[in-house]
Amino acid sequence: MAFSSQKPRLSVNEYVAGIQSGNRFILSKAITLIESELSADASIADQVLQQVMPVTPNAFGAKDKAIRLGITGVPGVGKSTFIEALGNYLVTSGISVAVLTVDPSSQKTRGSIMGDKTRMTMLSQHPMAFIRPSATGTYLGGVARKTREAMLLCEAAGYQVMIVETVGVGQSETEVRDMVDFFLLLMLAGAGDELQGIKKGIIEMADALVINKADGDNTKNAKEARQNYTQALHLLPPAESGVVPAVFLSSATENQGIEDIWQFIKAFEQTTTRNHYLQKLREQQNLQWFHKTLHSLMVKALSQQENMQSMLPAIEQQVRQGILPATQAARQLLEAVFSKT
Ligand code: GDP
Repeated sequence: MAFSSQKPRLSVNEYVAGIQSGNRFILSKAITLIESELSADASIADQVLQQVMPVTPNAFGAKDKAIRLGITGVPGVGKSTFIEALGNYLVTSGISVAVLTVDPSSQKTRGSIMGDKTRMTMLSQHPMAFIRPSATGTYLGGVARKTREAMLLCEAAGYQVMIVETVGVGQSETEVRDMVDFFLLLMLAGAGDELQGIKKGIIEMADALVINKADGDNTKNAKEARQNYTQALHLLPPAESGVVPAVFLSSATENQGIEDIWQFIKAFEQTTTRNHYLQKLREQQNLQWFHKTLHSLMVKALSQQENMQSMLPAIEQQVRQGILPATQAARQLLEAVFSKT
């Protein structure tokens, strides 16, 4: 039996009470628990989540939902500066904010794209803001799961706006899109979509585009880009939300454009609450989350089956040598595993 050298955990009740009273220290500890790979922690984490979830502002029927906002864009576009500006605007208006990140690079030993620099220094010191650096995990879905559960805990602690940030360089945008209400894509003028690594699919996922760094010499380019993107958005099929995506200009360093974007997000939330899109979206996301988790647990359980482990090497060898086609090999293996269990 393996013993953990870590300090003893709190009890489930202590976590739950601490989170619900908005104790940031306990909230942090609870997120650490969720991020833990130890199975003993997983069981406590499950109980904590289960107890806080029905009383979060997002339980169906609750009056005030926390807004879940996803923000993406290539490295250097200004995400952390923008989140700092938006976050400061919100906390100054009396709205509390939690910032979480899904960092696709954090699994690599070289460290993360986002985590190496000091980020959001002002916001991180504000008592109404909670900033949690990226979770680490062995695969992107694992990181996303931890971020999603961390988000639920932050909501239970009473934070009113969740900002989930990710670098727009790959699959992580889809993971974040699937856990938020509103998805914001930050862009640069004149860089060209390809240069920014932006695929059409990502633009289609966005509820609003923001051309950042619309200041100084860049202002004219930014205005042109805004026109071009507005036209491009008109060519897309109508958004399921019922709200036509808009293109904004911002200067995160000069705090320009932030309020307009926030007003758009608020209006989006009101419209989609009225037309029931928001509830449908969240139900769909919950279900999708369940199926993804179920799928990964089934794969894990199956791969741990003794006869799977004993039969696998021989079948792999036949596939490698081209003796057995891959599809047939996979089917045969599964049939053999089930027939012996
Ligand atoms: P991230 O990698 O997307 O998080 O980008 P950062 O927020 O770290 O910003 C990258 C660089 O762009 C920094 O040097 C910022 O000061 C700068 N930057 C961010 N927003 C703006 C802006 O609106 N205007 C200008 N001129 N520079 C900005």
